[in-house]
Amino acid sequence: MPNMCPTKTAMPEQEPNVRNKNFEEVALGYTEEMAVNEATRCLNCKNKPCVNGCPVNVPIPDFIAHVAKGEFEEAYKVITMASSLPAVCGRVCPQESQCESKCVRGIKTESVGIGRLERFVADYHMKNSTAALEIPEPNGHKVAVIGAGPAGLTCAGSLAKKGYDVTIYEAFHTAGGVLMYGIPEFRLPKAIVQKEINGLKELGVKIETNMVMGKVMSVDELFENGFEAVFVGTGAGLPSFMGMEGEGLIGVYSANEFLTRINLMKAYKDEYDTPVIRPKNVAVVGGGNVAMDGARSAKRLGAENVYIVYRRSEAEMPARLEEIHHAKEEGINFKFLNNPIR
Ligand SMILES: Cc1cc2nc3c(=O)[nH]c(=O)nc-3n(C[C@H](O)[C@H](O)[C@H](O)COP(=O)(O)OP(=O)(O)OC[C@H]3O[C@@H](n4cnc5c(N)ncnc54)[C@H](O)[C@@H]3O)c2cc1C
Ligand code: SF4
Repeated sequence: MPNMCPTKTAMPEQEPNVRNKNFEEVALGYTEEMAVNEATRCLNCKNKPCVNGCPVNVPIPDFIAHVAKGEFEEAYKVITMASSLPAVCGRVCPQESQCESKCVRGIKTESVGIGRLERFVADYHMKNSTAALEIPEPNGHKVAVIGAGPAGLTCAGSLAKKGYDVTIYEAFHTAGGVLMYGIPEFRLPKAIVQKEINGLKELGVKIETNMVMGKVMSVDELFENGFEAVFVGTGAGLPSFMGMEGEGLIGVYSANEFLTRINLMKAYKDEYDTPVIRPKNVAVVGGGNVAMDGARSAKRLGAENVYIVYRRSEAEMPARLEEIHHAKEEGINFKFLNNPIR
């Protein structure tokens, strides 16, 4: 008999008034008992609507069935047939609008906590696995990937599993893209991202950093060097400003600059010299995940009053519901206005 509890097994979290002063991860992860309990809420539906909601079609009921039986390593094998970054996806994928939005349990009650289970399985594997990695037979074909963000890493992982010889060229000194420089430590610890990247390296993926492609080498030169295909996954890293009066004033940051100083350049750590403004009052313009990350980071840097200023209503905010909920708990204020003009 499935567990008919109407709500997801609660995720242990740091207390809001403690976590809004540190950069440690907010969600602490399921224990084995919690994971098994949540997995038994799955009905193992024949038509698997949740799988259709997943952009990479992870065989969700299959991996959850293994979790329900305590077979966590088997569950990991099932997930990684489809996903190269499960510990990342389990933490930051918008499950509520993807797999979980299609979950049959979600029609009348809360959906199965698919993301939480994925995260548990990935973390369990990282902590406990001693099994040697199965290295695929080389197929003799070379592929270059430009950009080591989630797109490039996923492409590289999928190809490496099929035996391709893959080299990633990354402009920054470190791989990960937004996972490293954008999404803050309190949502996605960088050690977790690094472990996922290390897993790809163990599969045989080569990563060359400090390589601004287009400057140091052209795509034509890659082809001349024996690559048969090139995947360009350079992201959308350039900030887009709104053209408002006052945008050039001291104290106005793009999210990109503010978050890069904090995440990649560790401005929040005393032992780092990275300069960052630590204001008392902060307004963050926007209502997506980036805005929530900016506001919650500002709070953690010591701001007393942080406002999210959004041009539409709360229901229209594009951020993940969990991020909005966490931001509110941490004392972020919300103002719904028309377009700010200066
Ligand atoms: C603050 C923030 C929070 C977010 N939160 C979420 C979330 O919770 N959930 C979610 O699903 N999405 C979230 N997103 C969106 C998500 O991070 C992006 O959709 C995702 O990172 C895009 O991946 P990508 O690999 O295409 O690009 P990127 O992550 O931008 O990676 C591109 C990489 O290419 C490199 N590069 C660029 N030009 C060159 C070049 N010429 N040569 C070599 N390398 C180059 C860059 O340095 C970078 O490493 C968030 C984004 C931000 C900024
Ligand atoms: S839709 Fe929900 S209940 Fe059905 S198999 Fe998928 S996760 Fe399980």
